[in-house]
Amino acid sequence: MPQLFSTRNRPLHMGPFPLERLMRGPVPDLDAVPPFHPLNFRRPDMPTSIVNAMGEYQAMMDAIRHGQVNPARAGCPESPLARANHIKAFGYFSDASMVGIGPLPNAARLEQPYRNPDIDRLSHDLKTRQTKTLASGIDMIMADLKDAMNAPSTTIDAHTHAIVFLYDMPRDPGVDEIGCDWLQDAQHHRACLRATETAVVIANYIRLLGWDAKAHTATTSDVDLNKVTVAAGLASVRGSELTNPYVGARFGVAVVTTDFDLAHDRPLLPPDQQPILQIKGPRWWVGAGSRRSALNRDPYEKRAFRDGPHPFETLSRVDTPTTYIDEPNVARVPKRADMFARAQFGDMGKANQEAAKGGHYARKAAPSMAQRRMLGAFVLLQDGASDAGPRPTDAVRNAANIKAASYFLGVDAVGISRCPDWTWYSHDATGTPIEPDHDQAISMIIDQGFETTDGTSGDDWIAVAQSMRAYLRFSLLGGVIARQIRNLGYKAKAHTVLDGEVLQPPLLLLSGLGEVSRIGEVILNPFLGPRLKSGVVTTDMPLTHDKPIDFGLQNFCSSCNKCARECPSGAITAGPKLMFNGYEIWKSDSQKCTTYRIGTPGGAMCGRCMKTCPWNLEGLFAEVPFRWAAMNFPKTAPALAKLDDLVGNGEVNPVKKWWWDLELDTAGAYQPTPNPVNTRALQKDLTLNFADQTLAVYPAPLAPHPWPYPFPMDREAGIEAYQAMITAEEYQSRRARGET
Ligand code: SF4
Repeated sequence: MPQLFSTRNRPLHMGPFPLERLMRGPVPDLDAVPPFHPLNFRRPDMPTSIVNAMGEYQAMMDAIRHGQVNPARAGCPESPLARANHIKAFGYFSDASMVGIGPLPNAARLEQPYRNPDIDRLSHDLKTRQTKTLASGIDMIMADLKDAMNAPSTTIDAHTHAIVFLYDMPRDPGVDEIGCDWLQDAQHHRACLRATETAVVIANYIRLLGWDAKAHTATTSDVDLNKVTVAAGLASVRGSELTNPYVGARFGVAVVTTDFDLAHDRPLLPPDQQPILQIKGPRWWVGAGSRRSALNRDPYEKRAFRDGPHPFETLSRVDTPTTYIDEPNVARVPKRADMFARAQFGDMGKANQEAAKGGHYARKAAPSMAQRRMLGAFVLLQDGASDAGPRPTDAVRNAANIKAASYFLGVDAVGISRCPDWTWYSHDATGTPIEPDHDQAISMIIDQGFETTDGTSGDDWIAVAQSMRAYLRFSLLGGVIARQIRNLGYKAKAHTVLDGEVLQPPLLLLSGLGEVSRIGEVILNPFLGPRLKSGVVTTDMPLTHDKPIDFGLQNFCSSCNKCARECPSGAITAGPKLMFNGYEIWKSDSQKCTTYRIGTPGGAMCGRCMKTCPWNLEGLFAEVPFRWAAMNFPKTAPALAKLDDLVGNGEVNPVKKWWWDLELDTAGAYQPTPNPVNTRALQKDLTLNFADQTLAVYPAPLAPHPWPYPFPMDREAGIEAYQAMITAEEYQSRRARGET
């Protein structure tokens, strides 16, 4: 159910639930709080349970819950309230349902901390695992990881604050529900996994700012999770369990303890003293003033897990994608052709090489640097040998189970397709030819989040963390799905941003997750717009396939060029779709785009195209007519695009800005950036003509060799190659005449 009311005036730190309506009081007797019982992720008696697949990822996150503190302190605000709001907003940006901050009472410190027994097994297993990633800076992450695995536990004696991240639960998967074979009795483990991701990232973030912080989870902790949850004002005691006024006892938490000075929330009054009419009255029922409400608290309340949170079943399905692909003649290129790899190897000149060195474009902003450690750690888990599992052969049932499990974990959209050879890179990161050995692809997309997108210009100091957050989420959830498939006896690999061997856009098209958009290689989804990142799990498991979708986007983008107009680097074409390496796309100038993203001094990376696109919607009921008209009456596209400008969609909403404009300095501290920040208004008066653009492309004949050493780019040749591109119609008629 879409939201009835916009929450554009609600700052992010207030969260999706209206916690401000709860009544608070003094600290209760914490000795009366029932103790927390740790979770175990081993299910030897239920080998097909998804909990087994989550175990390795949970252990990895537990292993990196602590680490070195940056000796150079950040120049962040001193106010405990400003800091608390910032940390809460980071938690909500990471999709926590509720965040509370309280003192760390002595009563909550465990005399006998508990530790995930799977960490030792993981540490042993990892000695033999290798990565083939080209990502810069990965060597530092791997060295750090080895240290973290073997480091002795550290004390939290000096920690005085506890930040609690609460994740609520969707309804229980039905025992006989199609697609839920692996999901029984996994709610607490799911909540633990998701909360752990957030706590471990934010603990790392605080340490990067120069204060100590350690994450505590349902599997590894120095504190009693129940006691700190009560002290932080997120739950009170009812009988033998904790309860929260909005979600009852259906939640899991992870905690960060720290010496970073933060303002505290007060504990909740007991359930019988809460003003129930204020909490769950008419405003809660219709969602006035808060993003979550009785209408949308659980997207699966009336939907099957296998169908996902959005009405994908309403989309029109077609046999072939709405953009032409000359499958037999798609040119495969090496992974080395990736623009970030090219920048790193010096193909794009010294300045770009310097900007890309050690992943500086991610390191220069603290939130993305905090996410990157975990992202690097997951590379070690994304592939591996299959177990001697039951190898289920029912393709329909397998597909339903994969989809339901992915949605249950928190993926925003899933599509399944074949994985033809032409979607694979030709050579891996070492220059070795790739022999595609999986013929099935499970494509997943992760929403980058409307609220933070609303507050950013798209190319300021949060842009890189928005991408990284979505990539990290796929690495975790896609990785769990790949592990689940391997547990069942089939081969499977999660292709993540740091180590992937398939080109994702064509797979997203084949699996019906979107259509090609003007932005270029970005596939646009009708419910999320271009505000997404993708990941793919390839496998040899038998699966039924989805079909491509047609929601009128080719027509819409032909009549709209807002992303091209707003692109700060001028990389997006204002012209027509043209043939590139066997695909018909609006081909952008990836060299310009990458140069801007890694080098802009006013921010860290860029996603301004996704921010300003008219399909980047809040998810309101009032937007339904826009989507309906855009899908059903393509001729309205020019008017809708103009209307979008007129109402100011795509402008920066300062209410949603929660991040600090800090930049890594030469002393290693995150300090207020000395550069003017990229805060931009829409350029509504600008008319962009294709004839005035100078764009370059590097098709297969201009692609680099596959090995990890330099291959300078020839921009003049790239510009000529752009000018030589032809339309799909011309391409097809030349082919028919035997001319290409
Ligand atoms: Fe298409 Fe307009 Fe969105 Fe660009 S801004 S992707 S042209 S709809």
